[in-house]
Amino acid sequence: MTIYDDKQQEIAEKISSDVKLSNWTDWKWQLKHSIRNIDTFEKLLGIQFDSQERNQLAETVKRFPLAITPYYLSLIDTDNYINDPIYKQAFPSISELMVNSAEMRDPLDEDKDSPVPIITHRYPDRVLFQVSGMCSMYCRHCTRKRRVGDVDLIPNRQEISRGIEYIRNTPVIRDILLSGGDPFLLSDENIDWILTELDNIPHVEVVRIGTRTPVVLPYRITDDLVNILKRHHPLWINTHFNHPREITKSSKAALRKLADAGIPLGNQSVLLAGINDHPIIIKKLVHKLVQNRVRPYYLYQCDLSEGLKHFRTPIGKGIEIMESLIGHTSGFAVPAYVIDAPGGGGKIRLMPNYLLSWSHDKVVLRNFEGVITAYQEPENYENFFGNLNIYDSKLLSSMLEGAEEYKATGIERLLSDLDETISLVPENTDRIERRSNA
Ligand SMILES: *Cc1c(COP(=O)(O)O)cnc(C)c1O
Ligand code: SF4
Repeated sequence: MTIYDDKQQEIAEKISSDVKLSNWTDWKWQLKHSIRNIDTFEKLLGIQFDSQERNQLAETVKRFPLAITPYYLSLIDTDNYINDPIYKQAFPSISELMVNSAEMRDPLDEDKDSPVPIITHRYPDRVLFQVSGMCSMYCRHCTRKRRVGDVDLIPNRQEISRGIEYIRNTPVIRDILLSGGDPFLLSDENIDWILTELDNIPHVEVVRIGTRTPVVLPYRITDDLVNILKRHHPLWINTHFNHPREITKSSKAALRKLADAGIPLGNQSVLLAGINDHPIIIKKLVHKLVQNRVRPYYLYQCDLSEGLKHFRTPIGKGIEIMESLIGHTSGFAVPAYVIDAPGGGGKIRLMPNYLLSWSHDKVVLRNFEGVITAYQEPENYENFFGNLNIYDSKLLSSMLEGAEEYKATGIERLLSDLDETISLVPENTDRIERRSNA
């Protein structure tokens, strides 16, 4: 038998002497033979750590477990593994144990915005639904490191049912993000069950699945799975490629199956020091993604989770990368650069500044090349639809079927003509304290 390349062949044979291609491409075989300790890792790649390093690595693995699929392992460049982007995402580093005081177990406060155990309801109209506690590979940069590998956190059917119940009873929710862990580590039957339940809730308009399987376990995208997914449109999938080297023959085949099933594909990358923190790497990545019908969606600033210090870059690095993408390449190949606000503020988009100045009738802008330009504002702009209150604007509600009163929140309120709010003021300051004591 031959697997796709010599490297994979060699690894497969070390795992089991009578291995066939059909084993290698069977996702359950891949999971069963996941690499979970340092010895196996050394043996399969034919490398050796010195004993001191090995001890420290063993400590790291005790705290943050190790799991790598044989497929993902086969992408490591053994000759230069120390600098390899696949190795760095998959294999522990002793830096993980150096927890910095700014790092937190739950930097995004996902556990606080949680009405039922596996749901995070942070944004007005959508929820994060962590239906799976399992992953095929434990990414070293995982923001949910505190959960990954913890078998007690694998939600059971009852917990998932409670989540579905919460969604059913909360009519403002129109968009569900299935995440985890990796939802595609659930069985086909369970995936079908969850999607069917969600389909039957009238106010749920779209479902999205976040999965890293096309990157680390592409054989999970089987024809059977795709046939199930196809029955649950509108379904969107976001995957998680961080480096162009992850786009291989196998991952391309997985993406092709999903795209051919009519599923819009997006990608969320994390900006990672020493892995992809260079404009040329990200540009190559986004080009390869769109070639495979995947639209770059987000580029995340690395979170303040425990054990991620060595992966973090300054925000300036992200802005520099955005500067090199916007205008320089296809608009639809440019992801939005976001930072998930520590403390649970949600995602904040970051961009280079294109708006340079204003006057009463002109806006001064710059483009990607440095051209500075003035846009003349319209002289007689009439605010035909009114301002942000559908209920008050009979004209607008007559044009929008079923439109309802619109309640502006946050900064939006300051812009609304119909809301009396003229400032938003933080509550717990000394100044506000003094006022209430006066
Ligand atoms: C990212 C995220 C979402 C989805 O945000 P989008 O910007 O719509 O992709 C929803 N809920 C939580 C808690 C999230 O972290
Ligand atoms: S697949 Fe996602 S949830 Fe799982 S370890 Fe990787 S980053 Fe974390």
